[in-house]
Amino acid sequence: MKHDPKQIALDRIQILVKEAQSNILQNPELAQRQAGLAKKISTKYKVILPYEIRMQFCKKCKSFIPPGTSRIRMGRSTLKSIRITCMFCNHTYRKVIARPK
Ligand SMILES: [Zn+2]
Repeated sequence: MKHDPKQIALDRIQILVKEAQSNILQNPELAQRQAGLAKKISTKYKVILPYEIRMQFCKKCKSFIPPGTSRIRMGRSTLKSIRITCMFCNHTYRKVIARPK
């Protein structure tokens, strides 16, 4: 059996992020630690975080802001997008969910 260290790292990252998501409301400190660890693993093993995990980190302060903790607003432009506001540093960034054809 072949054990790809990158695959193992990715599995661990996904488990950690899942754990962090379920802990974020009851135990935010633990959740931040778990999310931070997931990031550290991705750096160490040079694995790129899947997009859905990457977008849960604030681009500015690198805090873990899963849906439910960050403020999400629909954009008003024709470009379908949502605005995500980090609750730690108040940094707002836009995520495009669909491009007009
Ligand atoms: Zn932030």
